[in-house]
Amino acid sequence: MKDGIATTCPYCGVGCGLLVRRVGERVEITGDPDHPANRGRLCAKGASLAETLGPEGRLLYPEIRGERVDWDKALSTVARQFAEVVDRHGPEAIAFYVSGQLLTEDYYVANKLMKGFIGSANIDTNSRLCMSSPAAAQQFAFGEDLVPGCYEDLEQADLLLLVGWNAAFTHPVLYRRMAEAKEKNPGKRVVVIDPRRTATCELADLHLQLSPGSDIWLFNGLLEYLKREGRLDWTFLENHVRGFGATLDAVSGLSIPEVARRCDLREADVAAFFRLFATTPRTVTVFSQGINQQVTGVDNCLAILNVHLATGRIGKPGACPFSITGQPNAMGGREVGGLATQLAAHRDFSAANRQQVQAFWQAPRIAARPGLKAVDLFEAVHAGKIKALWIMATNPAVSLPEAERVRSALARCEFVVVSDVVADNDTLRLAHVRLPAAAWGEKDGTVTNSERRISRQRAFLPLPGQARPDWWIISQVAARMGFGQAFAYPGPHTIFREHAALTALSPAGPRLRLDPSIAASREAYDLAGPHQWPAGAARLFGDGRFATDDGRARMKPVAPAPAGEAAGLCLNTGRVRDQWHTMTRTGRVARLFAHTPEPVVSVHPRDAARAGLKEGAWAWVANRLGRIAARVQISAGQRPGEIFVPMHWNDLFAAAGRVGAIIPACCDPTSGQPAFKAARVELDPITPAWQALLLTRHPVTPPAGCLWHRVPVPGGYRLQLAGLAKGTAALPPLVAGRGEWLRLEDPAQGRLRLARLVEGRLEALLFIEPGQGRLPDPTWLASLLDREKLDTADRLALLRGEPPEGAPQGRLICACHGVAEGRIREAIRNGATTVIELQARLNAGTGCGACLPELKRLITETPSAPSPAFCHPQGCDTIDGS
Ligand code: SF4
Repeated sequence: MKDGIATTCPYCGVGCGLLVRRVGERVEITGDPDHPANRGRLCAKGASLAETLGPEGRLLYPEIRGERVDWDKALSTVARQFAEVVDRHGPEAIAFYVSGQLLTEDYYVANKLMKGFIGSANIDTNSRLCMSSPAAAQQFAFGEDLVPGCYEDLEQADLLLLVGWNAAFTHPVLYRRMAEAKEKNPGKRVVVIDPRRTATCELADLHLQLSPGSDIWLFNGLLEYLKREGRLDWTFLENHVRGFGATLDAVSGLSIPEVARRCDLREADVAAFFRLFATTPRTVTVFSQGINQQVTGVDNCLAILNVHLATGRIGKPGACPFSITGQPNAMGGREVGGLATQLAAHRDFSAANRQQVQAFWQAPRIAARPGLKAVDLFEAVHAGKIKALWIMATNPAVSLPEAERVRSALARCEFVVVSDVVADNDTLRLAHVRLPAAAWGEKDGTVTNSERRISRQRAFLPLPGQARPDWWIISQVAARMGFGQAFAYPGPHTIFREHAALTALSPAGPRLRLDPSIAASREAYDLAGPHQWPAGAARLFGDGRFATDDGRARMKPVAPAPAGEAAGLCLNTGRVRDQWHTMTRTGRVARLFAHTPEPVVSVHPRDAARAGLKEGAWAWVANRLGRIAARVQISAGQRPGEIFVPMHWNDLFAAAGRVGAIIPACCDPTSGQPAFKAARVELDPITPAWQALLLTRHPVTPPAGCLWHRVPVPGGYRLQLAGLAKGTAALPPLVAGRGEWLRLEDPAQGRLRLARLVEGRLEALLFIEPGQGRLPDPTWLASLLDREKLDTADRLALLRGEPPEGAPQGRLICACHGVAEGRIREAIRNGATTVIELQARLNAGTGCGACLPELKRLITETPSAPSPAFCHPQGCDTIDGS
């Protein structure tokens, strides 16, 4: 019997199990020690889930054009509009854009309504943006979109290749599992293949910092090397693989010097990597967005699958290629057919499949062909071909490439319905109908993680206001369109049972088989624990039998893309450690902002110098599509000519922060996955007329015409602003109110510092500096909002902006124990030379462990105080210690 309600984290594809308990009025959330994905561990995001609950900011009632309505009116309006569009323009004029945040049951019902009853396949998902290239590659190579391994393989491998995957930030619990496995097995080797030196490189024995887009050169070169060195598994190839002859011919003669030149790597490093791969049978290659989000995404994945098939390293303990998913249910969505390119249950649109699925659903019609992929779908909205669009649980006005065009597509669309849990985001602002969906913790169903493990998400909170589960909302619209009988689900267990039955329909059909017995009854479904599919299969294809017609895997020659456009800088995008997607949930937790509280652009020192940019300066990142503003973070971990910008910022948190606005809508031609890793941009300094720091207890609206970003901090909000034109008169009214004022002003210089206190408590603070003058580190000042009363030392230091000794300074490195960078550096200067010593002194790094790579980096970067034994009485700088 569990001590709490077992459920699953809603964030990333690791799919960590959680236990939820009520402690008085509080909800307490901990890692589930029995869940095989995390064995009790959580990262900072998962560990702060309890702080994201609560009604603030929720969409609680259906609305039509901003007016609150009841469910019947909202659902009837949606059903009627959809029916009219179908009558006037046909089923292709309707589209659904759904999300990897949906549960499998929600996905199933949406897919069934669109493909079987409306009769179009125009349902696509935001998983298109992260997973469609590996899905297409696996479909081709294995005959079905299946990940052949499991998380234990990452621990059991003697060689781990981490390709385009900053695991330390994006999948922290898996990173910890790999790091611990390496500690236990000193012979284990880790190679990171990534154009950036990320936190994950702290685990690496070798970092191949290759040029962006050169992955195919590297893996094709490896294949040729393996052939040359007699390291191919010819028995496996001859018995279980097709297409290897042409594939090997295509890479013939590719030498190490050529690979090194194409990838911009040292020959010695390429040779060392090839040798390591050749001599280590237990190899797992994990690949993620760095591979997937390129115009050659499918071929990149195939190049990796090719080397694993050629060496028979698949489906064996510690040996497989492993595509890691970003979202909590990207996999579940693919299983039911949530991508426009699949019909249902991993089936394509063949006549036999269409006939069988239509009969199973008893549907009046069935989609005749694949629908529009995400980018094309929004282009069709823009062109007026799609007249009615239903967006569920995603924010495409931020997350899609050419986000401004997506915005204008939504603005022109006749009828936009958005189902979401929040009352406001960039996409909801453009909706005609808003439908309040049940949030995580309120809804019930299943999700599938990256290792094909199906886990239950369970409700532990009542539905707030009029919020309803997505499957219910979709079924009610279906009923009002006249399809009630096929959508009369009493609960999610009946949907799962129907989905499982569909997967088992045809003996000649795909290999995927779900076990319907877990949903045989409501009780069985409620009790279901995490389990992998196909039933009991931790690994697939180890027997050499694949899901293709002839049971053989397929290799395919893949060619690198011709060298791309060289003008400007190459823009890479991705996640920061403690945020998730467009921050609609993590953005509610103050401590999750403390690690990266601003939109930043990471720039190599050479490029920064060339553009005249200093650390902390504001800069435009611009191209023909538009521009965004970000703070410069100078990093030697960037390759020269390449910059990195996080993907999370949007209009709720920053002016001009949406990086999607400057990503061209270039996609892989097969998968339709956009290339988020290779936009070309220019970097230009912003010369502000003034800069300001604003701390308030309540949210305030920044004045128009300036740059700003706003984040929650404990006890209030922190805004940083920069004016492009002179004039700061709009700022002081933002801190107006009753109370005691402290003020320091130099009007001639345009410098102002003022604070308002009420009964000794800081209520608001405003610092304005002219031009590029530096404002004080905001960490300590912002921490004062959380104090009941300021003491004398704080009041004296307040307007100076100088923290007293021991006060927090710099970014928060350890989110679990609230340890900021300043304290860590101080401890290192005072003699802490190992992570263990930092853990003992500060507790830093003893929680989720996501900060451990950064602790290691700080130890390397921070000079420690010289040993007293070598110190001269007058100082330490004149003594030669030798
Ligand atoms: Fe959630 Fe973190 Fe686990 Fe991902 S690694 S599922 S975000 S707790």
